[in-house]
Amino acid sequence: MIGYKKLNDTNEKIPEIGIGTWKMGQEPRTEAEAIKTAIRHGIKFIDTAEMYGSEWVVKDAISNRKDLFIATKVSPSHFKYESLIESCEASLRNLGIKKIDLYQLHWPNHRVPIKETMRAMEDLVDLGRIRHIGVSNFNVEELVEAQNAMERYEIVSNQVEYSVLTRDIENELLDFCTKNRITIIAYSPLGTGALYGNKYKNVLGILEGIGKRHGKTATQVALNWLISKKNVVAIPKSGSSEHVIEIAGASGWSLSKSEKSEIDSIKERKSALGGFMYPILKNTSWWASAMQSFNEKRSKAHQKKSTTKSSKK
Ligand code: NAP
Repeated sequence: MIGYKKLNDTNEKIPEIGIGTWKMGQEPRTEAEAIKTAIRHGIKFIDTAEMYGSEWVVKDAISNRKDLFIATKVSPSHFKYESLIESCEASLRNLGIKKIDLYQLHWPNHRVPIKETMRAMEDLVDLGRIRHIGVSNFNVEELVEAQNAMERYEIVSNQVEYSVLTRDIENELLDFCTKNRITIIAYSPLGTGALYGNKYKNVLGILEGIGKRHGKTATQVALNWLISKKNVVAIPKSGSSEHVIEIAGASGWSLSKSEKSEIDSIKERKSALGGFMYPILKNTSWWASAMQSFNEKRSKAHQKKSTTKSSKK
């Protein structure tokens, strides 16, 4: 059983564990199967982005299900009004759905006036194309600016990197979002897989030790620690059904206070995604276009391959 949490001040509750889809599109059949497995195990929240080139894999996995919470993102290179509306329409087509549950600005883009971007987002709600407005990789100042630029709706969530290994948001953002009831969607909650590498075997050992007391694995402990925080939900990625079943076991039980403190005090850190490039990425958007076109090309090639394979059968 996956627990649910309130999404900001809305009446909506969302699963505290979702499934991420970055880098999907390479083994589409296995990945779509993993998403289906996730759904069967109660993980009814799926996160994607136009930039990932994985929306079509999600489409294959969700066909016509109405009980899911589907989140996607618009790339910073598409934050101008017309462009944002077009991106949303493209995502709706790619996903094969009529309405996006949560539409997120993938990353701030300081080169497009935030007022213009937020006007497009609010209009999309009024047009019935999206249900909720979220952001991603926004700091406190950027969040306040984006909220102030809106007239009719509220930002319900901020998707940011957060894991046992990456704690940057604990400096300020976590408190701010908790106080303002903005849901934190923790991305890369397994350190983009770094948690399983040699470098962090000490951390993995601590998590395994704690897990043994509960009959749980290190993965489940790492995720449970995140969702034990008031307004945090987590979106691990897995393209493996076996891993997804393990992920589902992260919800529905609790770490003790002292176990949470033990994890709180782990000192090993992995630098956040973007690293020293972070400020530069926020002031340009060429990288978003480049990444998107790379992912789209890769994804189309895999899509073609998978269509050819199934028509040969
Ligand atoms: P992650 O969830 O931290 O880690 C994923 C890695 O962990 C994969 O290599 C996966 O391999 C492995 N894994 C998953 N479950 C496992 C298990 N039970 N045992 C062993 N290995 C396991 O990485 P992420 O993809 O960076 O982050 C998750 C999602 O967050 C993304 O997919 C995306 O939706 C979102 N995200 C958003 C942003 C943003 O800017 N907004 C940035 C990064 C990520 P397998 O696939 O083989 O299981």
